Amino acid sequence: MLDRLSPQAPDALLALIRLHDADPRDDKIDLGVGVYRTEDGNTPVFAAVKAAEQRLVQEQDSKSYLGPEGDMGFVNALMPHIFGADPTMGGRISGMQTPGGTGAVRLALALAQKAGVKRVHMGVPSWPNHAQILADLGLELVPFDHASPDGTANLEAVLDAIVNAGVEDAVLLHGCCHNPTGIDYTADQWEQIAEALAQSGTFPIIDSAYQGLGQGLEADAAGLRSVLAKVPEAFIAYSCDKNFGQYRDRVGAFYILGQDSKALETAFSNANALARACWSMPPDHGGAVVRLILRDPELTAMWMAELDDMRGRMRGVRDALAAAGSAGRIDLTPLGTQNGLFAMLPVTKEEVAQLREGHGIYMAASGRINIAGLTMGNLPKFIAALAAVAH
Ligand code: PMP
Repeated sequence: MLDRLSPQAPDALLALIRLHDADPRDDKIDLGVGVYRTEDGNTPVFAAVKAAEQRLVQEQDSKSYLGPEGDMGFVNALMPHIFGADPTMGGRISGMQTPGGTGAVRLALALAQKAGVKRVHMGVPSWPNHAQILADLGLELVPFDHASPDGTANLEAVLDAIVNAGVEDAVLLHGCCHNPTGIDYTADQWEQIAEALAQSGTFPIIDSAYQGLGQGLEADAAGLRSVLAKVPEAFIAYSCDKNFGQYRDRVGAFYILGQDSKALETAFSNANALARACWSMPPDHGGAVVRLILRDPELTAMWMAELDDMRGRMRGVRDALAAAGSAGRIDLTPLGTQNGLFAMLPVTKEEVAQLREGHGIYMAASGRINIAGLTMGNLPKFIAALAAVAH
């Protein structure tokens, strides 16, 4: 039977990690996999997470099952940070825990499908797993251009997609720190998107995987909040794996904005059924850690300060890139106004290979770079290599 299977391409970024690890050059630069790195190239556990983990070990008195909704203390404690001062919007938002943001995206799309959605409009390029999940569910992906050539968001394209979408269509939007381009909608553009969604009735699904890593916790939630203020219903897929540095612990949540509490109850009975059939219940540890942090003002302040440091370091790298102006034919100035971990460089596959082989600089074949792989120490080498290759 197994001979009926055909081999699938391995994850390209994992292959890149192996190549990077095998490279003996001391000054090699890893701009591949999407994790935050310090100036020393490490991805440490947050001090706030360590402190909460110690408390968890002391205090946890059972590992008995929770339900498919996971740790609701975690789910609820996050809500004011995502949704603001009225976190349930008068009882119209509630949520459940998921295995990472990936689990939340999967659940959002599967529930949308169960509710009759057939097509999902999405700006491209996007996080590759979006297309994979859509294909796996058998949902049609309708692409539009996320970015304009000048490095800003293509507002006309997203408005066009929303306005012309049918009743069986949804649109998938990145809440902030767009992966892979780093190009976010401005506040004014979000308002126009929210208005178009309200007018057209196209169902919004917002994927928020990097809150706090762009402009700040509140600013990064503003776009999502302006949509929720205008539309009757929406799904939100949320990840704590980047902004709490919990990547492998798989910490995420899925929220629904519904017309009223009765609609929410029915929707969550379906979401719970889908979750049970997929993963039964989410892993507990990372969600419990986030709950302990967010319920303790001291740990919350510690977490926010650590997040500020990360964002500040990446902003410094972006400012330095923008200040350099250009490298060869590559205009670096748009990187200064973009957000988060990622940016796309308009380089060819051949140039990516030359950077890797000739200079020990590792990046995805698409030209996506992890901004956090750059430091004030390795930036001059990076800019010089880029100029040498992309002339
Ligand atoms: N959405 C986007 C846009 C992402 O970039 C990622 C992570 N790469 C996720 C969701 C999933 O995050 P997690 O690791 O929590 O599953």
